[in-house]
Formats: sequence, C-alpha cells, structure tokens
Amino acid sequence: MILAPARSRAPGAPIPNAMTCDVEDYFQVSAFAPHIDRASWPTRECRVEANIDRILALMADGNVKATFFTLGWIAERYPAMVRRIVDGGHELASHGYGHLRASDQDLAAFTEDITSSKKMLEDIGGQQVRGYRAPSFSIGTGNLWALDALLAAGYRYSSSIYPIKHDHYGMPDAPRFAFYPNGTDGLLEVPITTVRMGQRNLPAGGGGYFRLLPYALSRWMMAKVNDDDQESAIFYFHPWEIDPGQPRPEGVDLKSRFRHYVNLDRMEGRIKALTRDFAWDRMDNIFLGRA
Ligand SMILES: [Zn+2]
Repeated sequence: MILAPARSRAPGAPIPNAMTCDVEDYFQVSAFAPHIDRASWPTRECRVEANIDRILALMADGNVKATFFTLGWIAERYPAMVRRIVDGGHELASHGYGHLRASDQDLAAFTEDITSSKKMLEDIGGQQVRGYRAPSFSIGTGNLWALDALLAAGYRYSSSIYPIKHDHYGMPDAPRFAFYPNGTDGLLEVPITTVRMGQRNLPAGGGGYFRLLPYALSRWMMAKVNDDDQESAIFYFHPWEIDPGQPRPEGVDLKSRFRHYVNLDRMEGRIKALTRDFAWDRMDNIFLGRA
C-alpha cells in the first residue's frame, strides 16, 4: 500500500474537506434489511427527492460543491433529481445499484453491479462517473479484490473503507488517509475520516456518530485532522438523516432504531454549521486534481 501525497495548496489556503452524500432512501439502509423486504421497495413512500432538494439548497447557501454517491435504483426513478445534482455543480458518483453489500457479492455479481450503475448514472447525468462508495463501507480485509474490479470497470477512486472497529463494517488496520492499495497506477482508496486516540481510530466522518456526539466535538475532531494531520476530512451523510418525519418501519430492533433516529431533528442545522465552519469541495476535485 502506498499513501497518496497531499495535494499542494496555495500558502495560507485552508485544507478542503470532502462533503459527501450517499443518495438512498430510509427503507434501503442495511440495518433495516432484515425487516424490510426488497420486494416492497417500489410500493413504499419515497422521501429522497424532497430531501435531496433541501440538501441542494443547503449546499447552494453555503457555496459548497459536494459528491453524491447515488444508487442506480434511485437514479432510474428520479432522473430529473440526478440532473439537478449535476446542474448544481456537484460530482455524481456511484453507490451501486440496489444497496447490496460488496462483501455479499462474488466478483461477477459485483462487476455487473458497479458497471451497470456507472453506465446508468452517466447516461442520466451526462458526466463521467469516477467515484464509488460501497454500501455500508463493505470493502475490507476479506474482499480487497473489489478495488481491482472497480479499476477494471473504469472507476478512479473508491471511498469504501472505514478504518474503525464496528459491528457491521470496518478495517481498523487500513491507512487513515488516501492510499493506493496496488501501486500508483491502481485505484485510489479514500477512507472515511478518523481521529487517532492512543492505539485506536475513532470515527469522525459522519453518520450516526455525528448525530449522537455534540457538534462541538465533531468539529474539534475534523479540525484536528486538518491542523495536526494536515489532511482533508471526508464527511458523509444521507438524505433521510435530515428527515424526522420519515415513516418508521415496524419490527426494527432497538439498537438499529436508536442509531437511525437519534437527533434527526438536529442534523440539518449541523450540516449548515459544517458548511460555515470548514472549507469543502468535491471528492474528485480534492483527490483527482482539477485537470
Ligand atoms: Zn448506503
């Protein structure tokens, strides 16, 4: 593994962080998968379009360009929404087609998933798709072959590894910052942001932790990555996280419910604060250069 050097910046310019949104609806999250039959997806109330429009307004207000890792399942139902993302100056990237974990697929199924979703997004969005994020950060020690498959399918980078210990995902020994798993002519992997405390990496890049912890602590952790590590932070969130009024499926276990619903009503204000408190850019602009 080879760490990618940080890009040079003008003296005094702030380090840009990557604002990323995983475009999926509330009934597609992996923690709900045991309780929500995929066959029921088409009949469920979709909230993603209205939530994305609010997010696009938030980004425009803060003058932030972001990366939207979008499910093919969503894109084919909401093509006009996908074009609004692109028209807003944001990067369109792939989150696979139907939110199947990479770790649950073999090479042939994974290749079909990343190839068809890439083509679908490119046809709708009219721009090249270069980035991929695996559902539930499902690339790790057991399936690093997936990174080679992404390169073969025409992707340039992935943001699919979370270097933490977690019951659903994580590769605690992975590098904390952008790296080439197989040499500099291979795929670039950009892990979700962590803060190093003693011998452990603590999650500092979004999701349930960001909603659970006080905003000031999250802000401190991201600033520490910028100031101490001199690296860009990668922040991620989902459209359903700004939607306290979303339907609540029945039968979901207590832990998953807590993780999904905690502080949803505070999320929009916190994202607004992030857009104000840090410098942001799209993943491709930060990690692939501006050429
Ligand atoms: Zn997802």
